[in-house]
Amino acid sequence: MTDDLQQYLVPQEPYYRAVDDEVSLFEAAYAAKMPVMLKGPTGCGKTRFVEYMAWKLGKPLVTVACNEDMTASDLVGRYLLDADGTRWQDGPLTFAARHGAICYLDEIVEARQDTTVVIHPLTDNRRVLPLEKKGELLRAHEDFHLVISYNPGYQSLMKDLKQSTKQRFGALDFSYPKHGVEVEIVAHEAGVDSAAADKLVSIAERARNLKGHGLDEGISTRMLIHAGSLMARGIAAPAACEMALVSPITDDPDMRDALDAAVGTYF
Ligand code: ADP
Repeated sequence: MTDDLQQYLVPQEPYYRAVDDEVSLFEAAYAAKMPVMLKGPTGCGKTRFVEYMAWKLGKPLVTVACNEDMTASDLVGRYLLDADGTRWQDGPLTFAARHGAICYLDEIVEARQDTTVVIHPLTDNRRVLPLEKKGELLRAHEDFHLVISYNPGYQSLMKDLKQSTKQRFGALDFSYPKHGVEVEIVAHEAGVDSAAADKLVSIAERARNLKGHGLDEGISTRMLIHAGSLMARGIAAPAACEMALVSPITDDPDMRDALDAAVGTYF
């Protein structure tokens, strides 16, 4: 493995608490060369899961945070000018396909549709990537695997993945873990005891009921870990919850009152 590729290996086993049979499903999809879509709200473990799977499979992981300014060239590559003239530089997707890495396109829907379609020939049995500017038809390495994340909550008619893109993937649904599992994760990641983690999860469960009734997204596992991390550093629970759970997700005074009341029930 080249040094360039080596740096993308996940060096240590990431802590990942499996919530269902997602690990064996992903392994089977990897073996079957079936691209995988991780669906679910932000902060519920999708990125951690991919890191864990890359480590478990011993494959390098190339992650791209997609955004609306991203062009196809940002993914595929471009010619650069240097002192010796022009030089082709592989983009992250090409790099992963050429060398056999797992390529994780995070929040793919943020990218423009003309960018998204470049993944199509890689996601069917051709497994090729045409590098038009370079005049090369790249055949993906045996070990190459494509993973995308997708948050169905954010989608609007204007911004959604095309059916022709969606149908190329097998999907794993992620959502907030069950109470006991989420308590375990928060306690582990934030370094708080299970009693405190239990209260934080209970607050989140109440707040999640407000989704669609004034809140766009529920309080995520990530936010609970933030609150717990402040508490583990000596911040009083109400202040930690205010900073990590309430203020970030809403500016609406009524919503803040509702969330404060949920916090007050437990702390
Ligand atoms: P997403 O990619 O879905 O936005 P992340 O994977 O970044 O979310 O998850 C946020 C944090 O929550 C992670 O850094 C990790 O600490 C924690 N987490 C969530 N789910 C799990 C899980 N099942 N096992 C271990 N940690 C988890």
